[in-house]
Amino acid sequence: MENCVFCKIVAGEIPSAKIVETEDVLAFLDIAPVNPGHTLIIPIRHFETLWDLPEDIALTLTRAIRKISKAIMAATKADGLNVGMNNLRAAGQLVPHAHFHLIPRFAGDGLDHWPGKAYKNVEEMNLVAADVRRALG
Ligand code: AMP
Ligand code: ZN
Repeated sequence: MENCVFCKIVAGEIPSAKIVETEDVLAFLDIAPVNPGHTLIIPIRHFETLWDLPEDIALTLTRAIRKISKAIMAATKADGLNVGMNNLRAAGQLVPHAHFHLIPRFAGDGLDHWPGKAYKNVEEMNLVAADVRRALG
């Protein structure tokens, strides 16, 4: 896709620190890491979000996430690792080419858990669950 920075990385038009590349998947280091070793895993073909991915590509990405997570843990001697994905602008997606963040974490690295908000009451919580169940069909 034109003007997509990750498609340009796939095409070799922009340099990247590649970890692994297959027919379907590319893993490379994030240029502005939360911690050193912060890795992005992307489908080679351009899709925007998690739910746009064909199921076989999603499975291939999941396999790569599991394998590369272990390698990052070992290589960085991390204490933990976050797997994250921002889908669409409101969720913080800046690059509209689907990607998973693998972020090695270190005890006391100063990053907080995301903030949790309380439901007003259990009825409100149950209504939200019912809405999502209905949307699932
Ligand atoms: P997101 O907010 O989930 O869309 O994250 C996009 C990520 O892509 C950010 O963490 C950026 O640091 C990273 N990024 C942007 N351009 C590049 C690049 N040329 N090479 C490596 N990582 C990049
Ligand atoms: Zn793209």
